[in-house]
This record gives sequence, C-alpha cells and structure tokens, in this order.
Amino acid sequence: KPLERKLKDRMKKQMELPIYQLLLHIGEKADEIGVNAYIIGGVVRDLVIGYPNEDIDIVIEGDGIQFANLLAEQYGGTVRGHEKFGTATWKLPNECLLETMCRPGLKIDITTARREYYDYPAALPNVERSTLREDLFRRDFTINAMAIQINKKNFGMLIDYFHGSKDIKEKKIKVLYNLSFVEDPTRILRAVRFEKRFGYAMDKQTRDLAINSVDKISSVSEVRISNELRMLFNEQHPIESIQRLSELGAWEYIIGEGVITKDKIHQLQTFKDLCYAYHTKKIANSIFRSHNSRDSRAWIGYFVILFHELDNGHERLVKYALNNEDLEVVDQFVVLLNHQELLDAIRAEIPTMGMLHKFLKEYRYESIVIMIALLDHLSERLSERIIEYLMKREQIPQYINGETLKVMGLKPSPMYAKLFSDLELACIDGNIKSKEDALRWVEQYIKKQ
Ligand code: ATP
Repeated sequence: KPLERKLKDRMKKQMELPIYQLLLHIGEKADEIGVNAYIIGGVVRDLVIGYPNEDIDIVIEGDGIQFANLLAEQYGGTVRGHEKFGTATWKLPNECLLETMCRPGLKIDITTARREYYDYPAALPNVERSTLREDLFRRDFTINAMAIQINKKNFGMLIDYFHGSKDIKEKKIKVLYNLSFVEDPTRILRAVRFEKRFGYAMDKQTRDLAINSVDKISSVSEVRISNELRMLFNEQHPIESIQRLSELGAWEYIIGEGVITKDKIHQLQTFKDLCYAYHTKKIANSIFRSHNSRDSRAWIGYFVILFHELDNGHERLVKYALNNEDLEVVDQFVVLLNHQELLDAIRAEIPTMGMLHKFLKEYRYESIVIMIALLDHLSERLSERIIEYLMKREQIPQYINGETLKVMGLKPSPMYAKLFSDLELACIDGNIKSKEDALRWVEQYIKKQ
C-alpha cells in the first residue's frame, strides 16, 4: 500500500496558477471518461522538495494518446502520439481556451501507464500497458517514482509506493531494484546528476550497484551517453560530477581512461570560470547565459576538453556530437589551437577588437571560449579582451542594409559583401556609433573605391 499525503495546498502555492488550473481541468476530463490521471516524475519530486519545475508529465491508467486527443478536442492545440510507446505530447494552443492563459505553446506529455522490459541489458525497452505501480517501478530512483493524483476526488494525493519522500528527507538517491543499472547504465550518470543538483548521495547499496555495473556503460550508444552528459554538464556542478564519475570508475568506459588528471581538472575549471565570466556580463543572445539549463551550450566545452587529447580524440568527439553545431565546435577548436598567425598576433600585442574580428569572425563562440581555456599562458588581460570581443560581436548594430546602399546610388554587386564586412569591422572597433556615422563612413568608402 502506498504512502499517501495530501499536497493540494502545496500545489496551489508552488505552481503557476494557469498550470494548476489546467491540472484541475485535466482531472475533470479524466473523471468524465472514468480513468485515473496523475502527474508524475520530476515535477512531483520537485513539489515535495519545494523546487520550481513546470515540466508536466501526466500518466493515465488508460489510453494516453486517446486522452490527449480528447483534451485537444476540448481545449484546442495539437497532439503528437507514438503508438508504439503509448505516449503523446499535447501542444497547447497559443490562445488557450481556459480561464487563465497558459504559457504560449506549452507542451504536456501524456502517457499510458506502462511497464517496460528489456530484451538484453542496455537495450531500449519494450513496453506494455500496466498499472500506476508498475509504471513507477520501472523508473530510475525512488525520488523520481512518486505520483500525484489529479482526479477531482483525490486531487493532490501523493502516491509514494517506494518511499521517495522519505529518501528526499534523508537526501538519498536509491534505485528501485538491483538490476536497475544493468538494465539501463545511463542511470549511473543520472544518479550523479541528481546527487550534485540536490546535494544528495547514493546510499551504500545503490553506490555499490553502480560501481559493479559501470562497465555496462560501454554498451550504450554514443547518442544516449551524449544526451545524459549534456544534461549533466549543463547543471551547476559539472566538475564535481566529473570527479564523482571518476570515483565510480565510469570514465574508463566512456572515454577509455579511468583517471582525470589534475591538469584536466584545471582546464575544465578555467572553462567553467570563463563561462561564468561570460554569463555574468549578461550578454543578450549568449546561450552560456543559461549555464544551468538544458539548452546551454556549455556542455560541449566540458566534453571537448575531456576528449580532445585522447587517442583518436577527434574521431570520437565526432561520434558523440549531437548536431551540426556540436560538429562545428569539434572541428573549429582544433583549427583555432593551431592557428599560428592568430596566436602570434595576439601574443605580440593586446589585439584591437577589429583584429580579433578579422581572425575570429568565422568561428563559433563555444570554439573560441574552449580555445582560451586550452591555451596555456594566456594572460588574464588577453582572455578578458577576447571575452569582450565576443560580447561586442553579439551586439553589432545593423545601421545599414542593402536598400540603404541602393538609395545611395550603389548598384548591387559583390562589393556589397566587402563593404558590409569592412563596416562590421569599423563598428566593432568602436569607430561607428550611430546611423549618421555609418552613412558618412559609407560615403567615404564609396569615394575611396
Ligand atoms: P529534470 O528535473 O532534470 O527534468 P526529470 O526527473 O524530470 O529531471 P526527465 O529526464 O525529464 O527527468 O525524466 C522524467 C522522469 O522519467 C524521471 O523523473 C524518471 O521518473 C523517468 N526517467 C527518465 N529517465 C529514466 C531512465 N533512464 N530510467 C528510468 N526512469 C527514467
């Protein structure tokens, strides 16, 4: 019998009002068709801890896809279902038909309660319809295996079969069954993620099970490992997590080397400091700004720094890259580290912004920050200068466009590209501060040509 506790008041207090109201509506809809509905996983854990989280996952003891379609019929929006897994994502309409507006484009995952079984360890699971208890039992840790019912009568009832709330109090990460890490070795990386995020620790048994199954990590696909590492490195304590994985012996089965040297930790720390320097300058478009978020680009830096000196490091990085942007970074930082002309120039004198732009404009900011972290003996002043350049580069004003040039009597030609590129240099060097400056500059430029 599960431990039950009413969390309705806490939900009302902690959740955004529109989300809370949406859950009430979903609960009523579930009553109408006579199925049980629950919120589940991370959002429940965070409600119990008192941590913000608006990622709503819903589980239905019934057909999740059909239920998502019913919700979309009543409230609008679109549904994408995966029959094979019994899962659906309901994307709410921008103009929500509820009394309070939800975030535009809010997505809610709705799934059929299911149990999973594995054909072989580390395989992707097969799924089958089941009860809530079985759905919770297939999850990674006790703290993530709680649900809150949202049907009207029991709205807010915490259902905790595996004592997740007790483990939250005791700050413990515990698996639900002994073969958990063998079946899915990525859970070892997840365990470390939650340890470092919340300041919890695996209990002795879970830690021993993790150590005994680390070798299974080598049978997991690169993409799955990258996805987990991306989430791990984008959290607030990537270096502590890297050290923890080292204690557990995991790196041997990911990068092929068990020991993370002091030098490596130093490089990682320099990279982290740079990310934060970049972050605190509050650069409008910088993705590093959200270092502590899933979308941060910081992770690729930790990743590259861990891999790049290994045998076949580059080829392996290519395998682990998740998209074209990652691939670009993986290629570019090597070029930058060996760019003799650039290195000679920046070592000879403190470079102007224009000079940096000339050398660096084609390179992604992630590659450039990695380069700074990996170059030995780069003075603090020089690194700051390059960071300043990256900031400036993100905010180059667009005073002039092709239309303006046409009006000024310049026929479209390849000269446009050269002119824009030189204008950009002048802007970044600080010589152009207004549209009038830019127009004057263009006039003189045309005359000179
Ligand atoms: P976060 O706060 O980082 O989003 P989360 O717990 O919501 O953490 P998700 O990766 O979104 O993490 O997963 C949602 C839920 O799915 C988890 O709470 C957990 O119950 C379950 N889950 C995710 N990955 C696994 C896994 N590898 N094995 C078992 N259960 C998992």
